Amino acid sequence: MSKNEKEKTRLDPWGITEIQDYERLYREFGIKPFKPLLQEIPEPNMFMRRGIIFGHRDFERIVEAIKNNGEFAVLSGIKPTGEFHLGTLMTAREIIYFQKQGAKTFYCVADVEAYEDNNIPLEKSGKIAVGNIADVLALGLDPKKAYIYRQSKEMRVRDFALIFARKVTLATMKAIYGERNIGLYVSALIQAGDILLPQHEDFGGPKPTVVPVGIDQDPHLRFTRDLAQKFRGKYGFVLPSSTYHKLIKGLDGSPKMSKRNPMSYFTLHEPPEMIAKKISNAFTGGRPTVKEQRELGGIPEICSVYAINMFHFMENDEEVIKLYNDCKSGNIICGECKQRTIEIVLRFIRNLEEKRKKFIDKAREILQVE
Ligand code: SF4
Repeated sequence: MSKNEKEKTRLDPWGITEIQDYERLYREFGIKPFKPLLQEIPEPNMFMRRGIIFGHRDFERIVEAIKNNGEFAVLSGIKPTGEFHLGTLMTAREIIYFQKQGAKTFYCVADVEAYEDNNIPLEKSGKIAVGNIADVLALGLDPKKAYIYRQSKEMRVRDFALIFARKVTLATMKAIYGERNIGLYVSALIQAGDILLPQHEDFGGPKPTVVPVGIDQDPHLRFTRDLAQKFRGKYGFVLPSSTYHKLIKGLDGSPKMSKRNPMSYFTLHEPPEMIAKKISNAFTGGRPTVKEQRELGGIPEICSVYAINMFHFMENDEEVIKLYNDCKSGNIICGECKQRTIEIVLRFIRNLEEKRKKFIDKAREILQVE
């Protein structure tokens, strides 16, 4: 592989992730394709069925646990830097799915990382997290069957991080994360503590654990799996498993939705007119004129409107296939398609907003935030 090719594949949990070709990740990083496992999974979710979850590490042991009613855990979380957006919605839906499949559920508020990476004080991130947790509860996470915590308050996570640090050199951190400030390296150790928390003796000890993440988070998985191996003798850790989802394109056609570019994404609590405006201006796979689009059809593969429908807003696979075919054949044109999408998105958001109000007090109680 040429140097140029390698540079195009960059996985950075705190910066810019560039992926030209998802297939290459199998060869470069040892991630396994998800598709061969699909038939083994009793009730695959829509991300799995649609190939949005495209890769994994050791997910076989999670499949076995699901099929045999065995014990397993799921851990995921949110960095409390702002309101829920489509990226955090994805991981929230994944964790809810695994909870329904019987996983012991851990949801982490990554406030240490929000401080180290985004300079958000703990007090402020605590307040932001109230809305985030209310959202995840409104989406369906059952708080009675989940352990929801803030990194900064969970001493077991900190203890793990301190213990793990003894076996980590600066050279290892640089090799995985590049040259960063020590605070980010500390937050990576804390994340390793999070990922292995479900295997702490207080939670029943070693067990298969799945961490569903966007592919840009894989460095944390590689780092933690290496630590789990090193500390296996002491704690009996089972190497954590992971699933990887693709990153949803920016509405402006950029490779990834990013807070750096407000027109590339929307949060789930933005004013409806702003969301409508962003979708109306979104990059599509449409043709320059209606006539051409009717004759040639659109290109859903590059269309951000198609992507948000496929990733989130069409529950039914048949609807996605229909949109794809209608677009390809010129049966639908972009103006009509965008309008329909705006209606679906705003309906979803109004519904979520109503439900979320009922969970704000519960979220405050869980996080112990006034
Ligand atoms: Fe995208 Fe819809 Fe236009 Fe097709 S018709 S390119 S899916 S906006």
